Parts: sequence; structure tokens; C-alpha cells
Amino acid sequence: MKSLSLESNSFELNEKEAVKIAVAKGDGIGPEIMDATLRILDAAGARIEPTFIDVGEAVYLSGNSSGITPESWDVIRKNKIILKSPITTPQGKGYKSLNVTMRKSLGLFANVRPVMSLSPYVQTYFPTMDVVVIRENEEDLYAGIEHQQTQDVVQCLKLITRPGCEKIVRYAFEYAKAYGRKKVTCMLKDNIMKLTDGLFHKVFDEIGELYPAIEKDVQIIDIATARLATRPADYDVVVTSNLYGDIVSDVAAEMVGSVGMAGSANIGKDIAMFEAIHGSAPDIAGMNVANPSGLLNGAVMMLAHIGQSDVADKVKNAWLATIESGYHTQDIFTQESKKKVSTEDFADEVIARLGMEPEHLKPSRLIEGTGKMEIPEFKRKATTKKLVGVDVFLDWPENDANKLGKSLEALNAYRMKLKMITNRGVKVYPDGLPETFCTDHWRCRFVCTTSDLTSKPTKYEEVNYEDIVALLSKLNAGGFDVIKTENLYKFGDRIGFSLGQGE
Ligand code: NAD
Repeated sequence: MKSLSLESNSFELNEKEAVKIAVAKGDGIGPEIMDATLRILDAAGARIEPTFIDVGEAVYLSGNSSGITPESWDVIRKNKIILKSPITTPQGKGYKSLNVTMRKSLGLFANVRPVMSLSPYVQTYFPTMDVVVIRENEEDLYAGIEHQQTQDVVQCLKLITRPGCEKIVRYAFEYAKAYGRKKVTCMLKDNIMKLTDGLFHKVFDEIGELYPAIEKDVQIIDIATARLATRPADYDVVVTSNLYGDIVSDVAAEMVGSVGMAGSANIGKDIAMFEAIHGSAPDIAGMNVANPSGLLNGAVMMLAHIGQSDVADKVKNAWLATIESGYHTQDIFTQESKKKVSTEDFADEVIARLGMEPEHLKPSRLIEGTGKMEIPEFKRKATTKKLVGVDVFLDWPENDANKLGKSLEALNAYRMKLKMITNRGVKVYPDGLPETFCTDHWRCRFVCTTSDLTSKPTKYEEVNYEDIVALLSKLNAGGFDVIKTENLYKFGDRIGFSLGQGE
């Protein structure tokens, strides 16, 4: 099977050759924590060659609304690996989030956030927690496609794609395999969203079969989040879609008190970006007190990704030994700490421990070649697609489903017949309940069938676009305000639309 390697080809040329990386020093505490991190990587023998790029506040304020210069894009696309400090997005309208721009423009489909307890050195109720959250990064409700359709109703489109699901699920299993993880849990809400989350579930089952050695579980997101927050030992790798992942990864990081200490990776087919999960902390910028651990952990993930697991382990173990020794920056300093240290001093303490291992915390043992993961190229399977009807959405201010239903039935729209009307997804015609609350947003389903409309399952007959256009003309002539249409298709034997509640 043809597959795409997730790493830049340059990493495979020569293990000893330095890998060119783009480095963004960022804003606020960004330059301080980046200098500390690069010093540690250099002392540990990381085989990297940084090129510094301009992104962030100064670029925004120079009139560039995306916060990144064309030259920086060029360096990123050439080097393919970015180590990025946090940046400050200026307040006010018109400035686009650089993180979102980079994720989408560069195809960084997987957000990877390992969450590990550092108890008793960092306080947590969950001393054994060790979970990796892998979140889909490009689609779902974050496609940002929103519309106001009536005076009362706005909508946001949730887009879930088969290639998107295949990439993220495959990545989660490949990650589990590469890092010696035992179980992958998929978190979804497919009891409600049967088509979108149902597709994610189906792909998880299909791809999961190819990894018999890895335990698999699928859980509903609400109870799964609650269980993760109370019994994290039941979880190992979590894979989920964009919005759920955004929430679950923050819950997980907060549970071990590591919001200021955790790193994260944004992985694409060709390009990958590594960073801390915290922001630019302008309140302590320039004071040499910031904790560089989050960015350093992002850099450790970068080293593993580019195949330098040996250096990644060396840095991570020296860092764990430093945390254990009680040399803490002010944000994690407690009475049990040995000494409060500055950003620069913390880096010196880590450097002094390179080659050492932690005594109590679990040492890092990355597996040789953790940077190599194979994601097969997406292949669309041929299937038949038949148009069988249309959902017409109307803006109709009167609160009377029966009146609307009767007038739509009287339309005589050639081959198309009104099957039902829903309001916010609940069937209100025919046979609706008077208690159902209705807005000014009505979904009217028109289909073509020669059998009785009440017979189940409905025997849909194929229609063509002219049938729909004829229906829309009739509606327009009848004074109805059509706000949008959704065509109803059958893909093979499967209907490609959800039924109304009560349909
Ligand atoms: P923040 O994470 O910057 O700061 C929250 C609190 O945590 C502050 O009290 C800060 O001093 C402290 N803190 C954060 N990192 C720390 C560290 N390494 N060491 C010690 N203390 C630390 O969040 P915020 O204040 O909401 O955001 C500030 C700016 O950062 C905003 O402009 C925001 O848009 C930006 N931001 C950027 C990113 C990114 O670039 N990835 C992520 C989040 C926020």
C-alpha cells in the first residue's frame, strides 16, 4: 500500500546530519523560554539547525492581519519542522489567530498532548495519571462556517470527513504502536450525531481492526470525560474530534496541574509544529522568572518526531531529575521545593543533570524510531449516489405547524410530496404535539415516492435537480421564504440523511 511518511525526507538522509527547523521566539515570555530551551537542546547534543522566523505581535501590528510574514511561511514550508513560543494576539477585531491559521493552512491534522502526573513535585489528586490526548485539529465545528438564517436562528456547520477521520484515527493507533501504548479510547457522541460522529466511530472500528495488539474502546464523550476526570488510570491514548478534544485535553492537563508545564505537537503529513500549551504570559515577561518546561516538553516531542529519541530521552530525564531535586521556578515553587530559581538558572540545573535519570518519577524511555509513522494515502471508494428528495428550510414567523403543512401540501409540486416538517429537528407535522416549542425556522422534507408516505421504510424514488427547481419555484410563487436547501441522497443502499425525531 502506498503510504506517506509523517516526517520530512531529510531526516532519513543521515542520522548525524542536523535537521533544519524553523524557530519562532514569540512574544511575552517567549524569547526567554526559547533561549533556555535551545541552550538545553544544544548541551544535550540535539542535531538541529534553527532558522529564526518572525511571527506574532510585531508582525500583526505592522499591518499583517495573519501575524506571519511571507518569508516566515517560506522557511516553515522548506524546513517542515517548527518550534514555536507562544505569541500575543492583539486585542481588537481583524486579527486572526495565528495558531488556527497555521493548523489549517499547513494541514496539521493531529494535536497531540501528553499529560503525565509529576506527583508529589507538582500537586495533583491523580498521582499515576499518564494519558495522551490526540485531537483532530482541522475540521468539525471549527471549520467556522456559521450563518444567521432567520431572526431567531443561527447555525454552525459540523463537518466531519472520511479522510479527516482516517488520518487522525490512523495517527492515534500508529502513535500507540510507536510509543508502546496499550489502549486507544475513542470518545464521541454518535448516539445523537449518527452520521457525523457515526462516521468517526465506523472509521475507528475499521482501522482498529488493523491493530490487533492494541486494546480498543469507544465511549460517549460526556460520560467518558467524567470518567477520565475521576478514573484516569482507565485511559492510555484518547482519540477524538476537534471540539471534544479541545475540552478533554484541557480537563486532562488541569488534572495534573500541568497547564504551565505541558508541551503539545501539531502534526501534519509534511509539516509539524511543537509548542507549550500556555500563552505568552505578558504579566511576567522580561523578568527571567518564567518556567520553560512547557516549551522544553514540546521540544522533546519534536526530537522524538524527527527520530532523535536518544536526545529526547536525555533531555526529558534531566528535566524530570531537576523537578525531583526541587529546583523550581516560582510558578511551581512550594515549601517542599529546595530552591526558587530563575528561567536561566532552571535551564542550567537541567543542563547539569544531562545524563542523569529521575529516582522516583518514571524515566522517559522513548523507543528508537518513534518518529516513523505511516499514514496511508486516502483512497475514495466508488459508490452510487442517488438524489431522492430535498429538505427545504423556510423562515416562517407563524407558530402553527398544521397551517404550514396544509399549505405546503396544497402546492401540487409535480413529483415532490411533503413528507414531514420539523422544527429544531423535532417532527411537528403531520401529527405533531401542541407542546413542542417552535421557532421561525422550519425544515420541510419533500421526497418522491409512489407508495404511501406513511409506509416504513420509505421507498424513495430518484428525482432530478429540475424536480427540486420546480418545487422551489412553486414555493417562491406561493410567497414562502426559502432560506436554504439540503439535497437528500442515497449512497448505495444507505440513506445519507438523518430522520427527524418522530419521523
Ligand atoms: P497565559 O497562559 O499566557 O497566562 C496565564 C497565567 O499563567 C499567567 O498568570 C501567567 O503568568 C502564567 N504562566 C503562563 N505560562 C507560564 C510559564 N511558562 N511560567 C510561569 N507562569 C506562566 O494565558 P493568557 O494570559 O490568557 O494569555 C496571554 C496571551 O497569550 C494572549 O495574548 C493569548 O492570546 C496568548 N496565547 C497564546 C497561545 C499560543 O501562542 N499558543 C496560547 C494561549 C494564549
